[in-house]
Formats: sequence, structure tokens, C-alpha cells
Amino acid sequence: MNFNNNNNNDSSSEDDINVYETLTKLLPANELLPRKLTIDIDVKSLYPLKPLPQFYKTYVPFLEESTHRHCAITETAINDENRTLLDYYDENKQNLVYKRFDQLDLGKRTTNDRTYFATLIANFKKAHPRVFFRGEALFDQKLTSYTSDQIQFDSNFESGNLFCAFKKSENVFDLIIQNDINTRGNTQWFFFSVTGAKAGQTIQFNLLNHLKNGSLFNEGLQPAVYSIKDNQINGTEWCRDGFNISYFKSPFIKEYPLTLKKKYYQLRFHYTFKHNDDKVYFAHSYPYTYTNLLEFLNTQLDDQERNQHLSRKVLCTTLGGNTCEVLTITSNSLQRRAYRKGVVFLARQHPGEPQGSFVMQGIIDFLTSNNPQAEYLRQNCIFKLFPMMNPDGVVNGNYRCGLEGSDLNRRWKKPNKYLHPSVYYAKKYVKGFSKERQIILVIDLHGHSRKQSSFVYGCAYSSQVKTIERVFALLMAKLNPFMDYPSCTFRIENAKDKTARIQLWRELKINWVYTYECSFYGQQQKHYQIKDYLNCGISICNALSQIVKDTSKEFTNQANVPDIQQQILEELGKMPQTDDQDNGSDSSQSEAELSDDELVQLFQPKTYSTKQKNFLKQQEFNNKKKPQPVNPKPTINTQKTSILQESPSKNSDQKPPMSSQKPKNTQYRIQAPQRLKQIEQTKIPDPPLMVDKSVQTDDWMYRQWLIQMGKMKKQQEYQSCTPTRNIYKSSSQSVTRFIVKNNSTKNDRGRIDSISLVTPGLQNKLISSSQQRQMMRYSGSNFMS
Ligand SMILES: [Zn+2]
Repeated sequence: MNFNNNNNNDSSSEDDINVYETLTKLLPANELLPRKLTIDIDVKSLYPLKPLPQFYKTYVPFLEESTHRHCAITETAINDENRTLLDYYDENKQNLVYKRFDQLDLGKRTTNDRTYFATLIANFKKAHPRVFFRGEALFDQKLTSYTSDQIQFDSNFESGNLFCAFKKSENVFDLIIQNDINTRGNTQWFFFSVTGAKAGQTIQFNLLNHLKNGSLFNEGLQPAVYSIKDNQINGTEWCRDGFNISYFKSPFIKEYPLTLKKKYYQLRFHYTFKHNDDKVYFAHSYPYTYTNLLEFLNTQLDDQERNQHLSRKVLCTTLGGNTCEVLTITSNSLQRRAYRKGVVFLARQHPGEPQGSFVMQGIIDFLTSNNPQAEYLRQNCIFKLFPMMNPDGVVNGNYRCGLEGSDLNRRWKKPNKYLHPSVYYAKKYVKGFSKERQIILVIDLHGHSRKQSSFVYGCAYSSQVKTIERVFALLMAKLNPFMDYPSCTFRIENAKDKTARIQLWRELKINWVYTYECSFYGQQQKHYQIKDYLNCGISICNALSQIVKDTSKEFTNQANVPDIQQQILEELGKMPQTDDQDNGSDSSQSEAELSDDELVQLFQPKTYSTKQKNFLKQQEFNNKKKPQPVNPKPTINTQKTSILQESPSKNSDQKPPMSSQKPKNTQYRIQAPQRLKQIEQTKIPDPPLMVDKSVQTDDWMYRQWLIQMGKMKKQQEYQSCTPTRNIYKSSSQSVTRFIVKNNSTKNDRGRIDSISLVTPGLQNKLISSSQQRQMMRYSGSNFMS
């Protein structure tokens, strides 16, 4: 796929190059100093929006259908108010022409409401190989010959999303899009291919199970379309196409929660195929896959000039086994490096918002270029970029969640290391980075499905207009023709308290933390194209270069630097207050997430959250109280596995070890700390230690543990009070934690006491300052890029 403008063959490519060049060939940094904002220039007039590329049209003009576009469609079908998609399946299974996971028995029903149509539950104890595409199943843009003249669907490729398809008549197909894996909802993103249509044939697609109660599809948004034949003949890349588009209430109610009788929403569009033997892809927006990102990064690193300023590191591995990366961009000169400011960009927490990736690509491409402004930014800033926070979701075609079924942008308050590794490590990384240097800007890139244009969410406590938090947003809006300042909102919403934006703002006290939203549609009823998203990224960098002070002159020439912030603040004071009402897409969808009892069936014990562990304990406790029935009812687990048509698995051995062996009343059972065990690297199994309750002290317990383990090295270490380097590494806070499981009395059963011990040596002897420094170097070493 080619995202660059230079090879675009559509009619507006010449203008595009002009826009691109205007944006990339800005004045060199030196001439910008001392900088003055040219606020009176109408920047937007410099970059007029381009009309859509013209295709030859055989379809009915939009206006004729406009009466149909606002929920005026009435279904003549059955009036039953309580039909679900499962009922629909029962009535139409003879018309089923495609299902993505052919091992799923779609007709299997259970008596309770725990079965969700269009959901694939990934069981991580028996990871199903076809659940995870690790980049090898790409959507191919080469045409193979198709012998069948039947319409055929496919979504078994990276980022694909179509659960199943039904043929209603010769040219009408009902489609069901897939819930995010391990959730019972979050449908919005779709991406599938159609083959077997004839030139001139018009097909109506009905996507039955959208969840949001409004859509830009009612305001003129068209699906993204890619025709392989059209690309070969006319060079057409991804474009917006389709007609007679409407989004309205579906006759079906959601399976969960059934009692609420919430309706699905239906998207209907028509498309006229232009070529015989063609393969045409349809998607909610221009897709940007994990593979696209890797390919782009490889070209950047292969470039001998660009890779001078760019380095790439693995941040973590996700549940699906994909790598989440962090990039560093800065000048490789060491001059005044300590004075550079920190800037952080994040993208694709929400996998179904590919706009974020295009903006991110625009940023990376600009920052590594030889543009003087990019060079200026590299000399004065260190950029940390997390280009794809949720590769699992992207690869598997999710809209909002990762494989663990939770919205990553609602997990920043207390991310779980195993369930949300990318958030856990990214947060840790950014926090470490903020200790190393001042972070002036954090932008989290998203796509918005309800509003036009692009805008930011910022953080501010008061409703006053004149806040420092708004300064950079206004500056970006001035320099970015695609950004609309009046759409920006600045506040702390309770529903978004656990987002990256609010958590980083709270914890790191950074004023300029923004969620940058780019519309799925565009602005002024015109679609954004891929290059517009790329240019948004360039504009962000451009705005930043206006406001970053030249650190090489900061102390010698400070008087000459005009205070741009002050200028903008003054201007902000004159502006009317923006309307802070927001009912957009960034809201919580937590009802679609599985409950704890459902999730604990899916994951390895080490990935359980505290809440889930507590749930398990409670369950275990309840089970002990009740005698087991002779013929037990099917458990959730067996129900789920029967959906997957796998034999039920007994996972009792994988649950956290509970009190199966009953120790004597006065004894505790102590487990050796995991970290120290690893350091020992001995293969002797650790015997459980029985400790007399009457004489226990922290120190005593530690000594007992050492003796019991029979580790001579540890004993010597303890006696000589000279901890090895390994211990520094293992416990940088010089605290070892013991977990004591209390099984002594009935009331105390299952209670866990945690005892913290100061590592010997550090306990008795105060650490010398040089040792402290050494320890700090270990913990901070990750950030000395
Ligand atoms: Zn988002």
C-alpha cells in the first residue's frame, strides 16, 4: 500500500503535492527566531480542502435518497419486538453464505443469556490457532482468478471483521459484524472483501448489528472501498464510495442484557461493481494494519539518513504474542541533550480507529526528515512514540478492545501487567521519562465516529476560558486547516477518569495532555483522505516547533524569546467559551465487557486481576460450603467450550493454589518470594516452610527461610551483610515481600497477610550514597536512550 502522495494518480494529485510541499518546506528554524505568530494570516486559505477524486458514476445521486437517510426506513418484516440475532439466524440459516470462524456452531443456544451472537470467545488456556493472526494472514491486494460467479465474502485476513453473511435475495445481503473478541459488543469496525460480482451489478449490504445510536453515515460518510481491478487499471487507492447510505434502528434487540431490550442499529449501503472478476474491499475507514506499521518502520530504519535520529525498542509482548514498540526520535548529537524537552505520542489504543496510525505516520515521517523545522525539533526535544498500543486488537479486527476484552484507554489508572501489558509498560516508561526530563506535551491519537473535523480533548478543572491547558490546542488549530478549535473540550469527565489523558495529567502534572480525535468522515461534508491524516501529523509538529524554546539559547539569549504562550493566552481570553457538551464516541462501553466470572474461565491464573482473584476465592469458599450436586449443571466453561465445539477442559490444576492440604492449626505456610527464587537459579524444589507462630518476627522468618532453603551463598551473604548486585536488581526498593496464607481457623481461611521485609544488609547498614546512585542508575537506565 502506498500512502505517499507523490504517486497518487487521481485528478487532484498536483494540488496535493503543493499542499504537501507547503507543509513540509516551511521556513527554517533559524529564521523563525525570534518568533512571532502571524495570527492575522488565514492559514486555512493556504490549504483549501480538495474535493473527492472523481470516479465514473453509475449510481443514483444522493439527493434522491435523502428522505431515506434519516431513519425513515420502515421494515416490513415481522413485528416481533423481541427478536435477537439468534432468532434471525434460526429463520435464515439456509441462506448463510459465509462465516468467519467455520468451527463455530452458530445455532448452538443456551438457556441463559450468556451466549452472544457474533462473539468469538478466545480461550487462552487452549489458544485457538485461528483466533490469532500474527501478520501472516494479510489482506492481499493481488488478484487471483475466481471461478465462481456467486457472490463470496471473506474476512479471514489481518484486521478483517465480518462474522457471517446471509443472502436475502440476488442482490441483497445481510451481514453481521463481529463483536470484539472476549466481549459481548463493541461492534463498529468492519472490513471484508467481496468477489464474484459482475460489472454494473449493484448490491445492497445491510450490516445488522451496530451499537451506537447515531452515525456519520447519516451525514454523508461513505464506506472506504478498494477495488483491486480499479487499482490495476486506474491506479485508484482506497477511496470513499457507495450510495443510498442510511443508518437506522434495526428490528433486532441486543442479546445482552436481554431485559433492557436495547435495539441494534443497522447500516445499509449500496455499491455498484465496476469490473468483472474483481475483488473489492469494504471498510469503515482506510485500514492501517500492524503489518503496515512494521513495513513503514522498516523503510524508515533502512533509510541511512532517517535512521540517524530514530531508534526502535520492544516495549512488551502482548497476550496475542505481538510486539508493542516504542520509538525514540531525537538528534544524535550530544550537545545540550540534557536540556531537551520530552514529547510523547500514543496511537491505536482503539484498534478500529486507523486515523490515529496515519497521523502517527505523518509525525514520524516528518520528524525523521531533513526538513529544517524537524531538525530544530530534534535538537530541542526527545520524542517517545508508541505507534500501536493495541496490536492484538488491530490484527484481529477489533473496534475498541484488546484480546482480554477491555478498553485499554480505560485502564490507565491501574493497568494489570499481564492483562494490559502495553498500558502497564507504557505508563511506567512515560513516568520514568518524566523523571529524566520535563515532558511538555503528550498526545494520544484517536478517531471519532460521531463528529466531523479534528479536535482535541484536554484537561482542566475550572470552566474558565483562560487556562494554560488550552494554549497548545489553539496553536494547533491555528496551524492546522483540518482542526476545529470550537469542537475542543477541556475538562475532567468522571467517565473518562481512567484514560491515558486524565491519568497522565493527574500523575505527571503535564498541562498539555490531549486526546487528538480525527473524524472518520472529514469536514464541511468532504471526506478526509489518507494524506489529510498524514498532514495532521505534520501540523502537530509544526505547532510544536513554534512553541519549543531553543535550548541552546535559553540561558544566553532569553530576553529575545517572545512569550508565545502569553500571546495565545491573551487571545484565548477574548474568545467565546467553547461548548463543552460532548456526546461523542469516546464514551465507555463497559456493559459489553465480560464479567469477572466469565473472564477467569479464559485466562491463566497469573493474568487475573485482583478483583478476579477475589472472585475466585469467594467462589471457592462458596463451593466448600455447599455440597456438590450429584449431577452438576453445565458450567459457564462447558457452555463456552461447547460453542467452540471443543471438549470441556477441567482446569482445576490451573487455578490459583487454594487450601487443598490442611496444615496444622498453629502453622503458617510460607512460599519463597518468586524473584529471589529466580536469582538462585537452582533446580532444588522449594519445600514449604512451617513456621511456629509464637516466635515469628520478620527478621526471624527471613533467617528461617534462608536456612530452610539451604542456600549457602545466601547465608554467607546474610552474615557478611554484603548483598550481591543481583539483589539490587531484584529489589530496587530493598523490600522483599512474603505472602503468608492463613488457614488456621475457619474464619481466617483464605485470608492473606503480606509481610514486607527489608533486605538484609540494607536493613542493618545504611546504604552508602554511591550505592544509592548505582541503584538509581539501574532503574533509570531504560530511559537513557
Ligand atoms: Zn478512540
